[in-house]
Amino acid sequence: MKKTLSKNPIKRQREEKRIKKLRKASRIVQGVEIPKGALPADPESQFHGGGYAVKFSYQDIHYSCAGCGKKEVWTAEQQKRYFEVQKGNIYNKPKWCHECHVKRMQDKPGTKPMSA
Ligand SMILES: [Zn+2]
Repeated sequence: MKKTLSKNPIKRQREEKRIKKLRKASRIVQGVEIPKGALPADPESQFHGGGYAVKFSYQDIHYSCAGCGKKEVWTAEQQKRYFEVQKGNIYNKPKWCHECHVKRMQDKPGTKPMSA
């Protein structure tokens, strides 16, 4: 079966208008639309460790601490600071609450805190 793109000019115009609006509101980062409620990222400031993974936006991550099971939130603002200011590893995911992380850091010096 042949796949056909929509040639409807009205549809296309509407889409272009939408993208223009998103761009104006900085809701597009390098051609990627930022989901509603997400914090736009600056992929240029991220440290990729030689890989190609980049983040275009940040959203609050809800997780349970692997040590004590406490419910934690890694906020979009904390992620932005971690990845863009502290140059944290892009593949890092939150696993520990602040207390457990501090405890772990005392055992293993040099680990960057992922929340403050
Ligand atoms: Zn914990």
